[in-house]
Amino acid sequence: MFADTSTTPVEVRPISPWVRVRRRGPLLIPSSESASPGIYGVDLTLGCGHFCRWCHVREAPAPMGRGRLLYDPRLAERLVDRLDSLAETPRAVCLSPRSDPFPPSREIVRVAEEVINVLLEREIPVIVMTRGRIPRRLIESLAARSHLVRFAIGLSTLNRSISETLEPGAATPRARLRNVKRVLQAGLTCELRLEPLIPDWTDTRENLIPVFAALRELGVRELITHYLFLHPAMQEPFQAAIEPLGWKERLDDLYRGGPVFTLGSAGATKHLPLEARRTRLARVVAWAAEQGLSIRTGTAQNPDLSSHPHKRILAQTQTTTAETANRATRHSTVRHPPRRGTWKAASIGCDLASSRASHERRGREAETPAHSTG
Ligand code: SF4
Repeated sequence: MFADTSTTPVEVRPISPWVRVRRRGPLLIPSSESASPGIYGVDLTLGCGHFCRWCHVREAPAPMGRGRLLYDPRLAERLVDRLDSLAETPRAVCLSPRSDPFPPSREIVRVAEEVINVLLEREIPVIVMTRGRIPRRLIESLAARSHLVRFAIGLSTLNRSISETLEPGAATPRARLRNVKRVLQAGLTCELRLEPLIPDWTDTRENLIPVFAALRELGVRELITHYLFLHPAMQEPFQAAIEPLGWKERLDDLYRGGPVFTLGSAGATKHLPLEARRTRLARVVAWAAEQGLSIRTGTAQNPDLSSHPHKRILAQTQTTTAETANRATRHSTVRHPPRRGTWKAASIGCDLASSRASHERRGREAETPAHSTG
C-alpha cells in the first residue's frame, strides 16, 4: 500500500538565491524550423525557481554555482534590440520553454511583465506557460489584447501536500485555479496542462475528479495530459522526493520494461509500458468525460500509442468525451471564452513542444557563455 500523501509531512526545498547577470547569449531561441518557423522561445532565467521534482530542467550549470538561478534585470531592453535586428517579426514568442516566467520573485515577475509588454506593443503573439502565480494586474492589462495572448497553465492536483512534494516552488493549486479563473474572465485563451500524470499517485480517481470538477466549474472544457517520463536529470530529486513516501520501488515496478523514446533534445526518456499507458489514459479520459471535459495527449510522448491497434479504444473514448463535453457546454451557464487569433490549440501544443526542445538544445550549446555575473 502507498503512503497517504495527504498527511505525509513534506520537505520543501528552500528557494535558491537569484543572481543578477548581464545576459550575452541568444535571447530568442527559434523553435524547430521545419515544424514551426518564426516561433521563438525566451527564458527569463537560467534554471527554474519552481524545482518540480520530475523536471529535467535544473538550476544553473555547475560552473555558475549549484542551486543558483540567474536572471538579467534588463532583459526587456535587450529584447527590444534583438527584435529590431530580426529580418522578420516573430510569428509568436513563448515564455518560457526552459523555466517559468512567474517564479516566487517579484523582480523576475517584473521582468516577465516588461517582456510581455515589449512583445505585445509590436503585435507579436505571446504564449505564456506557467505553474506560478500570474499577477492580477497583468491579466487585467492583457484583456484588451486577448487576441495576442495565450496562457498554458500546468496543474495535476488540488492536494496541497502532493503539490508541495512534487513542485515545491510553484504556486499552490488554488492559486493556479485563481489564475485560470481570472484568465478566462479576461477573455484570454487558457490551455490546461494536466501533467504529469504519475501512475497511482496523480492519476487516481480520488485525485483527478476534484481537479476536473473545479476546472469544469471555471468553464474549462479541454485538457492536455501526458504521463510522467523518466529522465536521468530528474532521477536524483525525484527519487529523493518519493523515497520517504515508499513510492520508489512501486514506480520502478510500473516503469519496468517500458519503452525508451527520444524526446527532442531531452534525449532518451523512459515511459510507462504501452498497455499500462493506454489503459490508464482511457480511464482518465472516461473520468474527465463524467465531468464534461475532453482530454488530448501528445503524440511526442506516445508515438507507440498512435500506431497501436488499441488506439481505437482511446479514440472512441475521446469521441464520447467530446460529445459529452459538447452537451455540457450547451447546458452550461459559464461561457467558455472564444478562441481568437491566428493560431490553433493543437498547433500551439506542438509549437510549445518543439520550441522547448529547440531551446534545450541551444541552451546546452551556449550554457555557460550565455551569462556572466555583473
Ligand atoms: S515550472 Fe516548468 S520548467 Fe520549472 S521546474 Fe516546473 S516543470 Fe520545470
